[in-house]
Amino acid sequence: MEGTILVVNCGSSSLKIALFDEQLNKLASGLAERLGTDDGFATVKGRAERIELAAGADHQDALNALVAVLQDSGLLDAAPAAIGHRVVHGGETFRAAALINEDVLDAIKDCASLAPLHNPVNLTGIEATTALFPSTPQVAVFDTAFHQTLPRKAYLYAVPLQLYKDWGVRRYGFHGTSHQFMANEAARILGKTPATTSIISAHLGNGCSITAIRDGNSVDTSMGLTPLEGLVMGTRSGDVDPGLFDFLAQKGVDSREVHRLLNNDSGLLGLSGQTNDMRSLCELADHGHEPSQTAIDVFCFRLARYIGAMMASLNRLDALVFTGGIGENSSLVREKTLAHLSLFGFTIDDELNNHHGSISDGHIEGADSRFRVLVIPTNEELVIAREALASARPGIPG
Ligand code: AMP
Repeated sequence: MEGTILVVNCGSSSLKIALFDEQLNKLASGLAERLGTDDGFATVKGRAERIELAAGADHQDALNALVAVLQDSGLLDAAPAAIGHRVVHGGETFRAAALINEDVLDAIKDCASLAPLHNPVNLTGIEATTALFPSTPQVAVFDTAFHQTLPRKAYLYAVPLQLYKDWGVRRYGFHGTSHQFMANEAARILGKTPATTSIISAHLGNGCSITAIRDGNSVDTSMGLTPLEGLVMGTRSGDVDPGLFDFLAQKGVDSREVHRLLNNDSGLLGLSGQTNDMRSLCELADHGHEPSQTAIDVFCFRLARYIGAMMASLNRLDALVFTGGIGENSSLVREKTLAHLSLFGFTIDDELNNHHGSISDGHIEGADSRFRVLVIPTNEELVIAREALASARPGIPG
């Protein structure tokens, strides 16, 4: 077999891998969860047996176990040709993927204060793959890089400028690989080039963000300094009045508790009191559970407001694009959201929407819609694999 590309995505207690061939066909994927606990385990897609990891198993143990399965099954008979890592925060340093060397590692460490929960664990993933494959070129692909084209008026908060100058307080934006993939896929579907395509890309998964992309460049996005700002998410509040912090402080809630409240206990989970899972919420709402219905309503209304807001950054809209677990699969969310936007001239075709665009090359807009509306499955692993191949082997098209 010719070279393979390994994609690694480390979370605080999880590790996801995917293996591609050099034509970027996916060969395998695996997942390890509950790392650092007594019941960590790993699974490889398509294989029934679950690998029980030793108590306290860490990212290195998980990677070793997953790679061993790939080797045993003959999918990875030599070191990969390239390894791509998802890295959450690249600050203002990284406008594109970077081939990892000591300087790049130092810069990722420097960005850790902006993403204390994410960048250190991404570095752990890089260390783990380096231990296994010391000679393989490794590439960091940043969630923030695609948004480095935001204009100053879109990335500055209206707080003292010194906070930006001293501490880098600004909007960075996240989900960049997914939004970039949407820009390219929408252009392909519409028979245009990315550089002449303007879209609004709504990535709606457990985390949610929306981006205005003008002629291929990110020009506004809903997530900010951290991935907490913007849309309602599974457990994250998205926008709240900043006055809430002082209000809660006066009630005796300290800042760590506020952080937990807004990141882990809010969003769909907080509103419904039941679950962060949109599919379950829809079922609960169908059975008359009012708080679940309210959670769906708030989610869709906030999203519609943001779609309106993103219009301000565009001089043309070639398509509104839905992606992510909710964006790709919930016809209800798409329908309810667009119902708020009839003033803009959006309509959708119920049948195409119920088929999630699968019978119409992604299109779900009504015949009389002023704008096209597309459903496009995201594929962040593929973007990372492509970037890894291109950066690790310059001259070979990804
Ligand atoms: P992701 O983080 O992209 O995997 O998306 C996870 C979210 O997608 C969860 O809230 C799921 O409930 C939601 N989701 C997946 N399938 C469906 C579906 N058929 N209908 C509604 N929501 C769905």
